[in-house]
Amino acid sequence: MEHQWLPFTPNREFIADPKMFGSAKDAWFYDLDGRPILDAGSGLFTTPAGHCRREIADAVYAQLQELDFTPSFLRSHPKSFMLANRLAELLPAGLDKLFFVSSGSEAIDTAMKICLTYHRARKDASRTMFVSRERAYHGVNFGGVALAGMINNRRHFGGIVTGAVHMRHTWLPDNLNVTGQGLHGGRELADDLLRLIQLHGAENIAACVVEPVAGSTGVLVPPVGYLERLRELCTAHGILLVFDEVICGFGRTGENFASQTFGVTPDIITMAKAITNGAIPMAAVAVSRTVHDTIVNAAADGAIEFFHGYTWSAHPAACAAALATLDIYRDDDLFARGRAMSPILLDALGSLRELPLVAEVRGIGMLACVELKSDGAPGRRGHLFQKRLYDAGLHLKTTGDNAIVSPPFIFTAEQVAQTVQILKQTILELPQ
Ligand code: PMP
Repeated sequence: MEHQWLPFTPNREFIADPKMFGSAKDAWFYDLDGRPILDAGSGLFTTPAGHCRREIADAVYAQLQELDFTPSFLRSHPKSFMLANRLAELLPAGLDKLFFVSSGSEAIDTAMKICLTYHRARKDASRTMFVSRERAYHGVNFGGVALAGMINNRRHFGGIVTGAVHMRHTWLPDNLNVTGQGLHGGRELADDLLRLIQLHGAENIAACVVEPVAGSTGVLVPPVGYLERLRELCTAHGILLVFDEVICGFGRTGENFASQTFGVTPDIITMAKAITNGAIPMAAVAVSRTVHDTIVNAAADGAIEFFHGYTWSAHPAACAAALATLDIYRDDDLFARGRAMSPILLDALGSLRELPLVAEVRGIGMLACVELKSDGAPGRRGHLFQKRLYDAGLHLKTTGDNAIVSPPFIFTAEQVAQTVQILKQTILELPQ
């Protein structure tokens, strides 16, 4: 316990009362004594196919014996091209060039640099400003922190993160207790982008970056017309539209990507988390053919087009894990299983609305949020809740007073019922 420093954790509290996992299988974690903890969070949105899938472990083991590393610049290996092809098949048409990285944060910063490089290639280099949103989470690297709409992630690093302006978030009081689509006010909210264009000038704006459904800040499902209106405005004003699908990708909202769930195609999609079912760090940026070709064609023959990349980009073990994962998703028809389980999950969670400490329940697909009423100090009740859930045998992510329920798609109706039962009991035992 002496030497590790945990991220996003009150470390003294953790050491006094460590919450550890020793093993995992299917929809379960086990603590160091073998006590089962139901994983209603898919790890951290990472593991829709359930834990410790043999097929992925075997593929990684085989890969590490055959080719354990390839330099990622000026050299490559066949599995990275195979993976790019497989992802292109899942993505919306036209978004079919893949740049590999190793985390969601790297994916976002890479996407931002692609946007800047694209505008420079078009001799439109004054476009350097980004538009994002309140309650946005785009990772913790400096680009992503500039975009962030989570106050704690910004204010501790404030002075050096610039270049982004923010729209309002999309959770309107009108939409309280409305599950899924059918929410109001979309076009009006998206017109925040128009106001920022009028204020700052389209000629200065590189891109608008949003999570189609803001995930870790409380599952904010976009109102009808919102993403469509952002698309219209971006197209009309030469602004690139970036969807951060680090959580939404790979079936979480129903379709392969949320872009398809909502029928709106951006210019760039970032993805991570479920790309290897959580087994190996891996992420990717999908770029439209137009954006890619503009950048590549602007460079002289033999010149590097994009001054960016990481040692671990398209690591062979990560590519092998991702290919095995995509096979599981296809062969088990896993996204369809998630789609079928979604109404059962959302209905069952809806029953928690009757509890006095529950402010709201909302969700889409296999992604939902149970928001607790604040006890006066924002996040304090949520923090206590999160600690008690571990003791009660349930894993999920909390942010502030929001509990995010994002089960693996292999979840059974019985496991949904177990999840709701533990949530209910634990909420009832919280101090009022
Ligand atoms: N974007 C979104 C939408 C995310 O939810 C996250 C992580 N929760 C990230 C980016 C950052 O990903 P990572 O933690 O892999 O850097």
